[in-house]
Formats: sequence, C-alpha cells, structure tokens
Amino acid sequence: MPTTILRCPFSSCRSRIIKTDDENTNIKTVTGNGGPRLLHFSDGEVSLNSSTKNLKFYQVNDMWTFDNIGVSRPTSMDDEFSITIDNGSVPVHIERYLTCADCDKGPLGIAGSVNREALEDPSGSKLVYYLYTDSVFQEVPPTSIDT
Ligand SMILES: [Zn+2]
Repeated sequence: MPTTILRCPFSSCRSRIIKTDDENTNIKTVTGNGGPRLLHFSDGEVSLNSSTKNLKFYQVNDMWTFDNIGVSRPTSMDDEFSITIDNGSVPVHIERYLTCADCDKGPLGIAGSVNREALEDPSGSKLVYYLYTDSVFQEVPPTSIDT
C-alpha cells in the first residue's frame, strides 16, 4: 500500500484521519457489502454513495492507529454489513459509524464487532474499524529523498 494521508473530504476541514503505508500492518484493504449509505467524495464534491455493494474499505484493527477519528451511534441497528475474506463472507455487527473528529460529518465508515479469529488476528481491541476508501480525500505526499 503506497503512503497516502487520508483526510476529511470537506475542503473546509481536511482533518487528517490516518496514514496508510507498507509499514502500517494494522491496515489492510477489504471488500464490504451492506451497511448505511456512506459519504462519497468525487471530483471535489461530497455526496452519499449510490450503492452499498462491493465497496472497498480500509480495515483498521485498532482505534489507536488513527490520527483522528470520531464515532457516532448508528441510526439503524438493523443494517447488515459483511466483509469478504478469502472468498468467504464474514458478518460485522455494526456498533458505531465513523465520523470526522473535527467537523463531525459522516458516516465515513463503520466500527463493528467481528469474530477476530476470522480475521486471523485474535489480538487487539474489541471493535474493528472500516473506513470507506471513497469517503476520504487522499493526499499522496511527494516522494521523499531520504537515503
Ligand atoms: Zn472534517
């Protein structure tokens, strides 16, 4: 995963949410299905996504991996959400929606409880975080010239 700084999609905010790179083994990309409509950032505009099928998420195993993240209560406890691992579907029980820690807008994703053994990571906190890849503004920093 290249080094990318993910930020709040709203140009008036752009709060830093998380940095992804190869060294950050707490983050990987997974496919998710279901859940609420999430913020969708495209061409500088923020809207709600039109589909909840086969979306890409950053799966974050620990809240402390984030630079800044907010959580809110879900509007519906009945929404079903699942992720796909090795062609199998793993249910995620939605506990929270992810929001921007600074402007409170969202949802940018989901926090939920998952069978940790299905993730092959029985350690870590109770909740697993799913940040929708299209919810965020992706800033690719210029390549550093460190040697
Ligand atoms: Zn924000």
